[in-house]
Amino acid sequence: SSGVSHVDDQVTIPGLPALYHGHPDIHLRNGVMRAHHLATDGEPDAEKAFFVADLSYVFQQHLRWKRNLPEITPFFAIKCNPDPYVLRLLAALGTGFDCASNGEISQVLPLGVDPSRIIFANPCKATSFIRQSARAGVDMMTFDNTDELYKIARVHPRAKLVVRILTDDSKSLCRLGLKFGAPLVTVPALLAKAKELDLNVIGVSFHVGSGCYDSSAFSDAVMRARMAFDMGKDAGYEFNLLDVGGGFEDETFEATAAILKDAINYHFPDRAKLRIIAEPGRYFVAKAFSLATNIIARRAPPTHDGGSQDGETDPEQPSVMYYINDGVYGAFNCILFDHQSPQPYVLSMNGSFHVPASIPMHSSSVWGPTCDSIDCVCAVTKLPSTLQVGDWLAFDNMGAYTVCAASQFNGFQVSNVIYTTGGGPLSGEVRRALKMFSIAKDGNGEDCA
Ligand code: PLP
Repeated sequence: SSGVSHVDDQVTIPGLPALYHGHPDIHLRNGVMRAHHLATDGEPDAEKAFFVADLSYVFQQHLRWKRNLPEITPFFAIKCNPDPYVLRLLAALGTGFDCASNGEISQVLPLGVDPSRIIFANPCKATSFIRQSARAGVDMMTFDNTDELYKIARVHPRAKLVVRILTDDSKSLCRLGLKFGAPLVTVPALLAKAKELDLNVIGVSFHVGSGCYDSSAFSDAVMRARMAFDMGKDAGYEFNLLDVGGGFEDETFEATAAILKDAINYHFPDRAKLRIIAEPGRYFVAKAFSLATNIIARRAPPTHDGGSQDGETDPEQPSVMYYINDGVYGAFNCILFDHQSPQPYVLSMNGSFHVPASIPMHSSSVWGPTCDSIDCVCAVTKLPSTLQVGDWLAFDNMGAYTVCAASQFNGFQVSNVIYTTGGGPLSGEVRRALKMFSIAKDGNGEDCA
């Protein structure tokens, strides 16, 4: 037998949690509804919040990348979402991986990924981590300072080094230049030191900042990388790797890709021997995950005298506070760390997925479940006035920098993930890719949730 069984539109593959196959016309929102039944049917903690991961979206992004940037191999930045099935899928699709720690490296290697498909893209590593990566055969790594060169020379002298240069990240949501990247003026001395230590520097990397909405940042960065390549030549190196980093946004991807390609054509016209890689994180996963949360409590906001408000006075001020079962200490840490503003929509009311369009809305605030008042998910938003405890709110775009940094503060568990293949022609491909990796590598019935 194929080992795959179908129960309605649910697919079970040994070694994987139940996946929803879905129907061709199903969008993720409907996928969330279907997953809702799976998550809540007969469970003792039936109201627990849960993610729905549409793995076909990740696959779609892979195809989109190949269409737009065929010359550039993506190395998925696993920090963004180290979900085991996302990793398996991407491993099966042939991407590389950007790892920032030994922990991340040891998540990727057991999938059967060759160490040459990993870049240790953290310019400031503990010596023990560098030593461990040498043992694991992970040779490609970034640096931006002299101390790093001494550490590498001591414990991993055959490493393939990539100098991370500083670029303009002022147009990005999360600026990384405050912490990493060698200013161009320092690069000649760094390369001279690397040469003196007999180290092998193979190329240049940059990161324009995470959440980069200004595509022109990439062309400026490629220009700077060109200058660093020339500095490499002056120092006696023949660089053959350009790493254009992460920062790719779903909305601006095509525009960014076009600008990037133009810049590469302009600054690296003769590139027969040049290998180009990137480290996208958010691009692959942001829209692949939605989060469904249950309204566990509801109350009126306090008034200035400390009592409770009786009626709606100012229509812009929240007249009701909803408490949901995931918050900023969990999945919504993206509000604090990733400068996001997730917006809820009603998934189900009073047991029904049908929310009449004409329903009156009122200003509301949405709070997480912990005892801390910083745990506010939405200070003001419009929600139907008839929402009650037990109803479900969902949030889209919850795949990047969410579950990976969630804590269990106050004893609240991190929300589980339910996987769907989204429906449509790609679902078969997704299932085949996952099956290859889950059964061949560890088919031990491991539960990823
Ligand atoms: N590469 C490095 C070195 C990073 O620090 C990050 C994010 O912080 C990424 C790649 C991924 O960036 P993004 O998710 O914006 O693509």
